[in-house]
Amino acid sequence: MTKLHLLLLGILTLATVAATAQTKPASPWSPELLQQLRHLHQAALEDDYAYGQAAHLTDNIGPRLTGSPQAAAAVEYVADELRKLGLRVTLEPVSVPHWVRGEEHAALVSYPGQVPGTQQKIVVTALASVDNATPAEGITAEIVVVNNFDELAAMPREQVAGKIVVFNEGFDHQMVAAGFGLAAYGQAVAYREDGREAAASKGAVAALVRSAGGAQFRLPHTGETGYDAKLPSIPAAAVTAEDAELMARLAAQGPVRLHLVLTPKLLPNVASYNVVADLKGTEHPEQVVIVSGHLDSWDLGTGAIDDAAGVAVSMETAQLLKQLHLQPKRTIRIVAWMAEETGIFGGKAYAKQHAGDVANHFAAIETDLGAGHPLGVNIGGDEAALKLLQPVADVLSKSGAWLLRSSDETGSDIIPLKVAGVPTFSPVQDVRTYFDYHHTAADTLDKIDPRELRENAAVVAVLAYALANMDAQLPRKPQPLPDWLK
Ligand SMILES: [Zn+2]
Repeated sequence: MTKLHLLLLGILTLATVAATAQTKPASPWSPELLQQLRHLHQAALEDDYAYGQAAHLTDNIGPRLTGSPQAAAAVEYVADELRKLGLRVTLEPVSVPHWVRGEEHAALVSYPGQVPGTQQKIVVTALASVDNATPAEGITAEIVVVNNFDELAAMPREQVAGKIVVFNEGFDHQMVAAGFGLAAYGQAVAYREDGREAAASKGAVAALVRSAGGAQFRLPHTGETGYDAKLPSIPAAAVTAEDAELMARLAAQGPVRLHLVLTPKLLPNVASYNVVADLKGTEHPEQVVIVSGHLDSWDLGTGAIDDAAGVAVSMETAQLLKQLHLQPKRTIRIVAWMAEETGIFGGKAYAKQHAGDVANHFAAIETDLGAGHPLGVNIGGDEAALKLLQPVADVLSKSGAWLLRSSDETGSDIIPLKVAGVPTFSPVQDVRTYFDYHHTAADTLDKIDPRELRENAAVVAVLAYALANMDAQLPRKPQPLPDWLK
């Protein structure tokens, strides 16, 4: 090699180094953005706007059952509050079921060792479905107790026909204590979802399901239950863990007869709305980061942890950005979903209404596992997003929310978006007590710890602003539709 060759090679090498330096992607996180995120995090930890909103939704408006006057009032209230913050609010129509609870009571009217002239009260609550009522005077039938679907399947039809099936599947408290609350719930809720159909297919006249929840203070947990038009529509209700055990013990001694009255009604659908409120992006207004919770609740409590908390921390994101004069580059869209509890009607309607614009949905966040201390951020979709978001986790580590994990627990209303490839997120929450109160009369404001709600608001606000302002694209990978949503 001549000197000239060496010189040329040196120039070429330098040129390559320079070119590499030029094409090396800039960090998605500018120092200014990281400083704004730290500032936002601190402000969120000091602000009680979210708590005030959760208090109004639960104490003043009350339970917000799909189709109810309270649900309608909550739509107007949240829309007004977000307008006050200067957001552009749209009410997007959703047709929702209007189920009303009616009367509900039950008693054991005959059982081994019964003292003449007495009965044993059974605490029940109706499960929402189609044609789920007994006649007004109720029904009386013998019970048959099973611990799981397999036991029922193994029984000859004549052993079940004409009887009331009691599903006594226990709730896995150890899983909950170990931090896997949603998994424990998933296992138990299969009986609430499918027990009615399984019992009907064996000729049963009603189904009672041990509550899918952790508390044992003789509280029943409500919820929806499945409906199959090909099967007889039989009444279905949840019973408390204590009463399920009582019935199992007595039925082991001899025949037990139960009187059951349930008079719920499914009225014609009602026009309702998702509240959709935009804080317009300065650079990419067409690109959207959804920040959300669901506005409807069950009717036994006041829907504080499920899910006024999720709506409140979403509203807090908008409030903080306004308060701190922070402008998102992409549009931050606060959504209060309607009718999650009765079948994700709001989430499905949104995905349909925005189907042509899914590519512009940069990310979607939902908070719907209460208000417990957040440990970090769940990421649904492509795991490559984990590494990209490490600087955000570093900011959140100050309040103990440093964990980034790939998870399918990012909220049910945004599943239709996730299926279409939109990256989804939720706070990783401490759910050790969540399923004690979930869908019960005890889901009330006092279950929200104001400090922990602020911590959740901090995670959601920082994450939302980070996603809206990051200088990079997130990897997109459409996810399969979960079986239970098919
Ligand atoms: Zn919920």
